[in-house]
Amino acid sequence: MSQLFRSLPSMDACLAALLRLEPTWATQPRPFLRDIVAAYWDGVRDDIRAGRCTAPEELALPQRLPALRDFVASRLRPRLRHVINATGVVIHTNMGRSVLAGEAAEAARMAAAGYSNLELDLATGGRGSRYALVEELICRISGAEAAMVVNNNAAAVLLVLDTFCKGGEVIVSRGELVEIGGSFRIPEIMEKSGATLREVGATNRTHLRDYAAAINGSTKALMRVHTSNYRIIGFHKAVGLEELVALGREHGLPVIEDLGSGSFMDFSDCGLPGEPTVQSVVRAGADIVTFSGDKVLGGPQAGIIVGRAEAVAALRANPLTRALRQDKLCLAALEATLRLYLDPEKARSSVPTLRMMTAAPEELARRARALARLLRARLDGRAEIVLKKDASRVGGGSFPECDLPTTLVCLRPRGCSATVLKQRLLDTAPPLLGRLEHDAFCLDPRTLLDGENALVARALDEALPR
Ligand SMILES: *Cc1c(COP(=O)(O)O)cnc(C)c1O
Repeated sequence: MSQLFRSLPSMDACLAALLRLEPTWATQPRPFLRDIVAAYWDGVRDDIRAGRCTAPEELALPQRLPALRDFVASRLRPRLRHVINATGVVIHTNMGRSVLAGEAAEAARMAAAGYSNLELDLATGGRGSRYALVEELICRISGAEAAMVVNNNAAAVLLVLDTFCKGGEVIVSRGELVEIGGSFRIPEIMEKSGATLREVGATNRTHLRDYAAAINGSTKALMRVHTSNYRIIGFHKAVGLEELVALGREHGLPVIEDLGSGSFMDFSDCGLPGEPTVQSVVRAGADIVTFSGDKVLGGPQAGIIVGRAEAVAALRANPLTRALRQDKLCLAALEATLRLYLDPEKARSSVPTLRMMTAAPEELARRARALARLLRARLDGRAEIVLKKDASRVGGGSFPECDLPTTLVCLRPRGCSATVLKQRLLDTAPPLLGRLEHDAFCLDPRTLLDGENALVARALDEALPR
């Protein structure tokens, strides 16, 4: 074993060989490059110790150079890269949730690349509010008296509980104690805010009398939480917002609604069940409503809070708002996204999340045929390609169990399994994400953006065995 260790090439030999292959790496900081090369050989030493590598000739630099180069190349690439989402899941949290509208991306670029009047009132030259304009837009669209914006919806829920419920009890139905992916759990956020959760009802059924019976001297609020990523079906009852608002009024308690996704639009005309819109929840009288900016709304990461003026004023006065504040790039993108919502038809056609959710099945079938044609021409028989009617999902914990009809392009690769193909496509330029259905690797045109078909073909050409 010690002889194997001694036969490893020197750092200088490795660097010289790498720079001959990749001359542009000469501009990389040398200590950084050395650390990466050292990390590669540390892995090889582990292989030697574990008996996975026993022959000295397997360790020679010429044999190892291609793998060493790939290892270094992968470490030199930026961590955050463009990937192609062909999974058909529109709001995919692992792939950055919503894709911004062109107008929103351009606004974020403007805010990023230069100075802006973020907190400057150009009418007076004095200090302005970074939020004033988006808050006005949110009120106009939602019909709420007041609005504010924080970093994300988890922050919004934390701020609301900290402001209204600290040191007291919040009544929530047992059927709504939801965990969102990435370990956001309502009971845990509540604990962090210093409020005590008072669960009422049963998992499947909660009645107004359950809330009423739980109200006591330390009750601070009644809360409803959208059961974003699951559905209770069968023998089920939840209390409607109007009834809960009436109960709150009777006892002088605020009613808080965490809508999760939150939408300004109704999608029942495109095959998705009627979900309460932000406007309808405001009209029903909720004192405070919170939702995300980057789920169904289709904007940047944001936590949006709307509600009655005194309630929002109390939130604003909480020093936590400073710790939860939204950054200027997201704020710029949010303003541009909200402007599109001033004309709902325009929002539907130019906010990518809305466009993808509402794409017509015939349009998706046409795009699937076009993609299949391109792939057949490009991949000359290296995969069998067929079309299949199937379903896509909205994702992001929105509209669970709702199928959106689509047409998939399914590939059965020759010379490797679909599972191996899926794995190889994680390492193409750019990586291509699709879904495995039985023994086929499938692409859903719903989430492919304009111009991405050519990149799909290139990635598959790179990944399929020759
Ligand atoms: C997604 C979600 C959250 C968290 O929102 P983020 O914007 O991801 O912080 C909170 N509550 C509900 C019900 C959700 O669906």
